[in-house]
Amino acid sequence: MPVFSHIDFDHHEQVVYGHDKASGLKAIIAIHNSNLGPALGGCRMWPYANDDEALRDVLRLSRGMTYKSALANLPLGGGKAVIIGDPHSGKSTALFQAMGDFVESLGGRYITAADSGTGVAEMQIMAERTRHVSGAEMREALAGGKRNGDPSPSTAYGVFIGIQAAVKHRLGRDDLRGLKVAIQGVGQVGFDLARQLKQAGAELWVTDIVEANVRRAVEQLGATAVKQQAIFGLDVDVFAPCAMGAIINQQTLEALRAPVVAGGANNQLADASLAETLRCNECLYAPDYAINAGGIIDVYYGRSGGSAAQLKAHIEEIGATLTQIFQRADASGKTTVEIADQLAEERFAR
Ligand code: NAD
Repeated sequence: MPVFSHIDFDHHEQVVYGHDKASGLKAIIAIHNSNLGPALGGCRMWPYANDDEALRDVLRLSRGMTYKSALANLPLGGGKAVIIGDPHSGKSTALFQAMGDFVESLGGRYITAADSGTGVAEMQIMAERTRHVSGAEMREALAGGKRNGDPSPSTAYGVFIGIQAAVKHRLGRDDLRGLKVAIQGVGQVGFDLARQLKQAGAELWVTDIVEANVRRAVEQLGATAVKQQAIFGLDVDVFAPCAMGAIINQQTLEALRAPVVAGGANNQLADASLAETLRCNECLYAPDYAINAGGIIDVYYGRSGGSAAQLKAHIEEIGATLTQIFQRADASGKTTVEIADQLAEERFAR
């Protein structure tokens, strides 16, 4: 399978294939760039239809991690791992031990973490074989007490901070009292974001494909439930995508009325050109990989052992980074996505 001529190859430093006959492990680790430090990124398990799909995913995702970590001011490079397999039926202790050995073989150039299809339990198994794993430990929680390695509370806090910055920039408002926010997806990140917005006095509209998640937001936070497609056209101040990717597309853009799009979901734009359409519509878009970096910051602190106060202060830098992106975008007439990429490249010294 060609790597150097692959459309998603972007000067990746290392792309390594790993196999273990006994456990059936088939995995790829890609290190995109390590100028700022060891490459950190999640280990995804997915039933890829073929090796090329897995390669494409690992090339794109590892590159994205370089940009995300640089924007988050972390001394980390970008990397990612993919395991070809079904996370519902294909998991075993032996598989993740072998994956741990694979990660260890790179000697710390790549540090792994949980991602789609993997979680704290799998990180704990890998940690039996390698030190280069994050999210297997118990640590101090943002809100006090102890917690496991789940980074979603930090992601939600970063999105909350990012919404504050976007609302100040676009709407000139310093506080969120009475702010109208529509949230698509009230799972781990979306619900915790909703809770913080509610505490700050915002009014909430929510949707989710899981009815119980909607009910929880309605009952616990007084949110208004709306149908899935209705979430885009609401007359609100902020649309916060917190479900899946590619939800900003031609069709949803036509319905979208919010002057701010700021949420936790990864890869929100169906294609990069939509950033320009958003700009022309005077809709301020907070680039997803800038606003949802709370999770990677959390993972970094889980490894480096910083305190909850240090973690919180670092997550709050997301606000300053976004403000810088918004101001530069205004001054240059470029999209927030172009500016975010530029800023990241300045930081990792492309
Ligand atoms: P989650 O699975 O807990 O929550 C996602 C929610 O969206 C679920 O409740 C799901 O039912 C709902 N959903 C799915 N499709 C939907 C649709 N079409 N319409 C409405 N709701 C829908 O996941 P999460 O951890 O909260 O992550 C949410 C998003 O944030 C994902 O895109 C994820 O990649 C991204 N993200 C998460 C983290 C993190 O720390 N968890 C970090 C960075 C980015």
